[in-house]
Amino acid sequence: MTTETTFASLALAPEILRAVDEQGYTQPTPIQAQAIPLVLENRDLMAGAQTGTGKTAAFTLPMLQKLLPHANTSASPARHPVRALILTPTRELAIQVEESVKAYGKHVPLRSLVVFGGVDIKTQTPTLMRGVEILVATPGRLLDHVEQRTVQLNQVQILVLDEADRMLDMGFLPDLKRILNLLPKQRQSLMFSATFSNDIKKLAEDFLTNPTLVEVARSNATSENVTQKIYKVAQADKHPVLAELLRQENAQTLVFTKTKLTASRLARMLQRDGIAADAIHGDKTQQERIQALEAFKQGKITTLVATDVAARGLDIDQLPMVINYEIPHVPEDYVHRIGRTGRAGATGIAISLVSPEETKLLKEIEKLIKREIPQEEPPQPQRPARGERRFGGGERGERSERGERNERGERSERSERSERKFSSPTTRKPHDPWFDKPYEPDATTPTATHATPRPISKSKREVPALLGGVVRKE
Ligand code: AMP
Repeated sequence: MTTETTFASLALAPEILRAVDEQGYTQPTPIQAQAIPLVLENRDLMAGAQTGTGKTAAFTLPMLQKLLPHANTSASPARHPVRALILTPTRELAIQVEESVKAYGKHVPLRSLVVFGGVDIKTQTPTLMRGVEILVATPGRLLDHVEQRTVQLNQVQILVLDEADRMLDMGFLPDLKRILNLLPKQRQSLMFSATFSNDIKKLAEDFLTNPTLVEVARSNATSENVTQKIYKVAQADKHPVLAELLRQENAQTLVFTKTKLTASRLARMLQRDGIAADAIHGDKTQQERIQALEAFKQGKITTLVATDVAARGLDIDQLPMVINYEIPHVPEDYVHRIGRTGRAGATGIAISLVSPEETKLLKEIEKLIKREIPQEEPPQPQRPARGERRFGGGERGERSERGERNERGERSERSERSERKFSSPTTRKPHDPWFDKPYEPDATTPTATHATPRPISKSKREVPALLGGVVRKE
């Protein structure tokens, strides 16, 4: 399949093509060009594609096409059995996928619904019982519905396991096995995963029949569209460096922390610095998470601090920047994190703040992605973050997450040692031209090393250049 494939050449129905056109897509992404014909041929698929490659449309468009003969406007639930089941690891991804199903299926009278945990099950039951052809679900809540007999899965023709690697990471294997046992043996199964671990291969062997392997990225590769860099910063200096970076960039930024506690604290500290920030993590209610995400998407807040679990699968259009405030313990998480930027042909920046204690984790990431991430000088904080007595720490009297300060706010020996090794940003002049550049929202696509981040945009999208594709400007 060449990159010249057009949507029209994929033999999709006019009502589906119309919706694609309304989305502003001019050309299929590489994963779409490869996967759509195979799905239409009823093949099982094992697809290696990161979030951001256009994988949702890669399975949704042919799914809609295949279900088109079943589209009807009858009021009878019996005429609307679940025919396609899409399983996702997180609520946020489930919501996004179902939004895409609705958008791509706008002109097709097929019903879709999303069900996920954390909200009252009763709110989902009436719609489910009226009948839906396409059901997007997280595994646990789907099983709740199965137990309550509010859903039947014996007419599922197409199963999609989205972000299968995530589902395994999150311990969903037993739930998946239970669900798969409820489905007809005769069905089409499509599995999407950003990484190919042995466990994923085993899952594919168990649940797919003679699958075709489709890969648009090298296993564990990171998008070429993302400029990656690291700043070596002592843990205790990370907050002021981050605050400065956010002030300089003033662009939509997703910041990753390892723990829920750090995410909350950091968001609060940034708010005190005058930065419009919020946190999204597992301890927040579903409502709070949706609100924070919406505020971020609409630009009401510029900085979203997230844990890995909460951020999984988030599709935020053309997010310009991702910052790793802390380096993940699992190297694959790095790939997922930075996959939030540089999506669908846009360029992005991924900056990791690496403390001396995290050097080993960084090495593991570099081994996984098979490249060394360039190191640059961190920006120099111009003024102390509000609420700080002096440069280099968290809130007054609050212990930093890793204990670099004692109760009186004094630096620990470990922190002092770190600073000697990775000299403090206060002692250096920034010389990174990228950071000296003023923010230019309307700048044309920048070069990789001196990229100007763009704000989130809903305008017509560039044809994706992801992972083997070509960039074509409009
Ligand atoms: P996904 O990998 O499915 O999460 O998609 C990532 C982003 O790419 C979403 O914002 C989609 O709207 C967008 N997208 C999907 N297909 C295309 C396409 N053919 N052209 C441009 N953008 C696309």
